Amino acid sequence: MIKSDVLIIGSNMMDLITYIDRMPIEGETVEAPDFEMGFGGKGANQAVAAARLGSRVSMITKVGNDAFGQQQLTNFKDNKIDVSGVGIGTKSSGVAPIFVSKSSNNSIIIIKGANNELTPDDLQANIEIIKNAKIIVLENEIPLETNYAAIDLAQEFGIPILLNPAPARKDLDLEYVKKVDYFAPNETELATLTGLPASNLDEIKVAAHDMVSLGVKHMIVTLGSRGVLSVTDQDEQLINALKVDAVDTTGAGDSIIGAFAHYLAEGKNELDALNLANQYAAMTVTRRGTQKSYPTKAEVEAHYQ
Ligand code: ATP
Repeated sequence: MIKSDVLIIGSNMMDLITYIDRMPIEGETVEAPDFEMGFGGKGANQAVAAARLGSRVSMITKVGNDAFGQQQLTNFKDNKIDVSGVGIGTKSSGVAPIFVSKSSNNSIIIIKGANNELTPDDLQANIEIIKNAKIIVLENEIPLETNYAAIDLAQEFGIPILLNPAPARKDLDLEYVKKVDYFAPNETELATLTGLPASNLDEIKVAAHDMVSLGVKHMIVTLGSRGVLSVTDQDEQLINALKVDAVDTTGAGDSIIGAFAHYLAEGKNELDALNLANQYAAMTVTRRGTQKSYPTKAEVEAHYQ
């Protein structure tokens, strides 16, 4: 029987990164100087972060019956992630064509493909994995009804649940948000979800407390280079970001989520887990890439000893 420390029920995508001088206009062909592929998808990124820190990680997701799907499976296995909950859909694997311009502005198209075929039935088919997890992590790149079914199952089995509402969806049902143990948007998602301004720390605090007053148990708001804010009805803590030379913040949000889940599963208290996850995320922004910027447990220990 699979017993995982961290169970990710979420997405996987292949990032198709094209470096462009300029975008073509409709009907035009332009040549781009460079291209690279990278493993992505919020769920997969979070899984890799937790696994590199040493958690036993299981992934419930869907890939397409295509070459990218095979590569995703290989990548999960290379990162020692249990793939017994990975299904094969009828649509293509999830892909994200990303166009990076000279000014480093990214234009991104997301085709969720097989991720959209992850249904509540797939959760039932993997019920043993769900029952035996120490913590379950969800994000919004899979169907909402699947997230709701996962939240209900986690409650039934008494398993803590962390929901990272990214990308933000205004139709997210507050009744389900109130059931999760940790609700972790970034500042932009917080603004979208609450309809309140969140452009400075004071506004962010007001918006986070607003969600708590509506019944959300524990808000964790990631604040980029300002760090991360934790708010409950008893407590408010701002954990400052570490001062580092940031070269690429892509995937930082997923790294702090995956690391926080890992440290909670390891038995750390919430504040210690968040401090350690904040340190982990700071390391990732000093390296280029998404998953490839995520350090291993040994690298973290060597860095912060
Ligand atoms: P993305 O969508 O790019 O992954 P996000 O908006 O979800 O990002 P952020 O809030 O930007 O996530 O970053 C997540 C965490 O990464 C922060 O809470 C912080 O711990 C760390 N971090 C991000 N940027 C920096 C930085 N410049 N210096 C130090 N730590 C950083």
